[in-house]
Amino acid sequence: MNYFLSEEQIMIKNLARKIAEEKIAPVRAAYDESGEFPWDIVKYLAEADLCGVYLPETYGGMGFGVFEMCLVVEELSRICGGIALAFAGTGLGTFPILLFGNEEQKRKYLPPIARGQKLAAFAVTEAESGSDITQLRTTARKDGDYYILNGTKQWITNGGEAEIYTVIASTDRSKGPRGATAFILEKGMPGFSFGKKENKLGIRASATRELIFQDCRVHKSQVLGREGMGFLITIKNFDTSRPGVAAQALGIAQGAFEAALAYAHQRQQFGQRISSFQAIQHLLADMATQIEAARGLVYHSARLIDAGEKDVSMISSMAKLFASDTAMKVTTDAIQIFGGYGYMKEYPVEKMFRDAKITQIYEGTNQIQRNVIALELIKGLKKGTDL
Ligand SMILES: Cc1cc2nc3c(=O)[nH]c(=O)nc-3n(C[C@H](O)[C@H](O)[C@H](O)COP(=O)(O)OP(=O)(O)OC[C@H]3O[C@@H](n4cnc5c(N)ncnc54)[C@H](O)[C@@H]3O)c2cc1C
Repeated sequence: MNYFLSEEQIMIKNLARKIAEEKIAPVRAAYDESGEFPWDIVKYLAEADLCGVYLPETYGGMGFGVFEMCLVVEELSRICGGIALAFAGTGLGTFPILLFGNEEQKRKYLPPIARGQKLAAFAVTEAESGSDITQLRTTARKDGDYYILNGTKQWITNGGEAEIYTVIASTDRSKGPRGATAFILEKGMPGFSFGKKENKLGIRASATRELIFQDCRVHKSQVLGREGMGFLITIKNFDTSRPGVAAQALGIAQGAFEAALAYAHQRQQFGQRISSFQAIQHLLADMATQIEAARGLVYHSARLIDAGEKDVSMISSMAKLFASDTAMKVTTDAIQIFGGYGYMKEYPVEKMFRDAKITQIYEGTNQIQRNVIALELIKGLKKGTDL
């Protein structure tokens, strides 16, 4: 299929595919079983210069954008959606610095991320503040040139493994949506520690941890943007990173589809290949069609962001919504094609099914994506703009 990729984009895609097939495929089941963090794979990505694919050359990156990041995430997720998160989760923690950091912050934090020496994470979620991010209990109290952070963040991807954290804390609850502020925190700062690591259904190679702040003193130079911009930064961050989650879902779906297609052509029942049964053929046809539709949305949304389009909330949510629902459907059908074998850990579709589920939940559940899309549609109606 021709996706109108440039030579450089084809090179990036092929490089990510090579690492995924040669380095990740042999170890994905072991990482899934142990839940260990895949530092050896991060090293391979760093050696290939892929960690900074979406970062400007000035900061040590390759100078590409969200689209190329999506190509990498898709290829890694085609083999393992969990290991891919070391890279994709870092994107989520890095975009706030890229989009809202001042020059000093960018020069300090982006180059080590681009080189793959440091990973990043983004922390907004708390026990009582999930879909409703305005209910933050983590506070940042001003004290001269410092802020004192107290509270606990929950389920933070790359938690404990990353060195650089963008953390959203409440500086003034009475100010509502303008009452939160984004801070850059570093692992090892006094008063910043890690809580329990989650034991999860899927993406088990990804670390998901609590971040705990106990009188953690953060200098005002660590504020991203300005005080009060925390929610805006969160929303803009999600607008930019949701195509990445969508690409993760797309890759998982693609991997499951390829495995199911190959299996259907090899498995014999009733004296013939199961791929000769129309019921199986229709399943495969629907899977392939849904994947192509998802790819269209993922690539289109990423290209719009890179082109500097201002209003990307709707398209970015559409990509995440559609690709993640596709991943869940396709991995379910892949297991169906494998029959009982698909239910066993000997075949990769069992893991892909478990990995797919998270893409419907994080960076805003798919109910929240629908709310975003509907809100944008209604806003457009008021402004008289079309889809
Ligand atoms: C493995 C994993 C990794 C994660 N990584 C990160 C991370 O790196 N950083 C971070 O900050 N967070 C992270 N999260 C948190 C994630 O973004 C939240 O779990 C998610 O936003 C949903 O919040 P919740 O789980 O509290 O669900 P809730 O908000 O409690 O929602 C429960 C149910 O109610 C529905 N619901 C809620 N509100 C509405 C509404 N208004 N309309 C319709 N339905 C609604 C939801 O769709 C869902 O079905 C991660 C979570 C997991 C599981």
